[in-house]
Amino acid sequence: MRIVFLGPPGAGKGTQSARVADRFAVTHLSTGEMLREACRIQTPLGRRATEYMNSGRLVPDDLVHALVAERLAEPDCQRGYLLDGFPRTLTQAEGLDELLVEHGSGLDVVIDLEVSQEVLVDRLSGRGREDDSEEVVRERLRQYDKLTKPLTDYYRGRGILRAVDGVGTTDEVFARIVAEVQASTR
Ligand code: AMP
Repeated sequence: MRIVFLGPPGAGKGTQSARVADRFAVTHLSTGEMLREACRIQTPLGRRATEYMNSGRLVPDDLVHALVAERLAEPDCQRGYLLDGFPRTLTQAEGLDELLVEHGSGLDVVIDLEVSQEVLVDRLSGRGREDDSEEVVRERLRQYDKLTKPLTDYYRGRGILRAVDGVGTTDEVFARIVAEVQASTR
C-alpha cells in the first residue's frame, strides 16, 4: 500500500502519519525528518538544505527528489510506504509519478488533512520547535498555500484524494483517516 499525506504545517500530519503507517504496516517516510537528520550530521545535502529550512522555505525540488528516489529503492519500501511531507510541489508530484512508473507501482490514496487557518495559527504558536519563530511559521504557511495546496487539485483529478477533517482528538482524527484508507483500498 502506498499512501501520501498532505496537510498544512500544524495539521497534525506528523503524529497521524506515524500512527497510520504503523496501523497498515508500511514504512513511514518523513522528508522533514530525513532533511533534519541530513542537516544534523552535515551531509553535503544537509549543508545545502539548512538555510532553506531555517527560514521556513522549501528545500529545492532536485535535492528532495534525489533523497526520496534513493530511499524508495530500499528494501523496506517494497512492502509499501506512507509519504509524510512529500510531495510538496507539483514538480515533486510529477517526479514521484516518474519514480512510481519506474517501480511499476502507483499510489493508492492521498489523505488531505484539513484544518482551518485560525486553528493552525493557534496550534503553531504553542509548538515551540527550533524553526518555529513566528515569522518562520508564517513563511511555512505561505509556502504551503502557494506551492503545496495545488496538489489537492492534482490528486483530486486522479480520483485518489480523500479529505479528512483534522479537528478533533488524536483518536478521532486517526479513526477518520483509517476509515478513508480502508475505503479506498478495498
Ligand atoms: P516538515 O517536518 O515536513 O514540516 O518539514 C520541515 C522543513 O523541511 C520544511 O519547512 C522544508 O523546509 C523542508 N521540507 C520537508 N519536506 C520537504 C519537501 N518535500 N520539499 C521541500 N522541502 C521540504
